[in-house]
Amino acid sequence: MAAKSKCHVCDQRKGKRPCPARSAPICSLCCAQKRVVEIDCPVDCPFLGAEGSMLLADRQSSDAPLPTGEEISDFVAELMDAGPRGNFMAAAEPTAVTALNRLIEFADAEDTTIQGAIWEWLVFGAQDVQGQALLDRIIARLPRALTVSERAALRALHASRYGLFTIESFPSPDTVQVRDLLADEPLELYNDAIAERHHVGQTLACFVTRTQSGVEVVSGAWQLPKGVEESFPLRLREICDESPLKGIPLPEFVTRVAIVLPLLMFEHFGAEESGDAGFPPPSF
Ligand SMILES: [Zn+2]
Repeated sequence: MAAKSKCHVCDQRKGKRPCPARSAPICSLCCAQKRVVEIDCPVDCPFLGAEGSMLLADRQSSDAPLPTGEEISDFVAELMDAGPRGNFMAAAEPTAVTALNRLIEFADAEDTTIQGAIWEWLVFGAQDVQGQALLDRIIARLPRALTVSERAALRALHASRYGLFTIESFPSPDTVQVRDLLADEPLELYNDAIAERHHVGQTLACFVTRTQSGVEVVSGAWQLPKGVEESFPLRLREICDESPLKGIPLPEFVTRVAIVLPLLMFEHFGAEESGDAGFPPPSF
């Protein structure tokens, strides 16, 4: 009788959780350490939790269904409600933390545009020193497993990247043909409001990721000042080369420390006599 209640995995501790994958009880420690990684957990296991379902999302094959832009923004909105962000900042990569501190010197930290930029960096690109998305720390605090659409949204968030995109044309009301200035290649982007707000020749700085609609603009976009199309990428290259992250491709660097973009904007406008009028520029 006693053997019956032992953990099916370690055979040492008491098996208190009925494991659906093993059809036997396992202990909470084995469950926490081995779920998804060594145990073939079904998605509806009540012990999966936020962390287990995150692992599950990462392990899904590359042909798993893409989310809609709306599923991504719904998930991000929920995470925003889930907890204070202050705790996560200190864990971020030093290069990004330096940029963040300098940004706060320049800007009113309570300004909603700045708050938005910090949050977007945190959700879409920021990593800790081990290379783990800071987003995952926020998700781990959710008191429940992720739904199917949230797992799809999470994969898209992990795959999102930051870019500087110069608008070349609008093939349709909700698509825009751009030149990706960091990767130096043409790209078509999707956003249902982009044609209303922007025009050919403008350069936007924003996060994009693949959704059911294509490569979609998923964060607010900074409209860069005219004439920085060459100097901003060069300055970003410089910041990258001076950082511990030198050697990684520029698009990846800028994704991970996207918070340097608002900083460059302040530096730019700070150097311009009359630049303050419309700053911070509205994001959309
Ligand atoms: Zn065990």
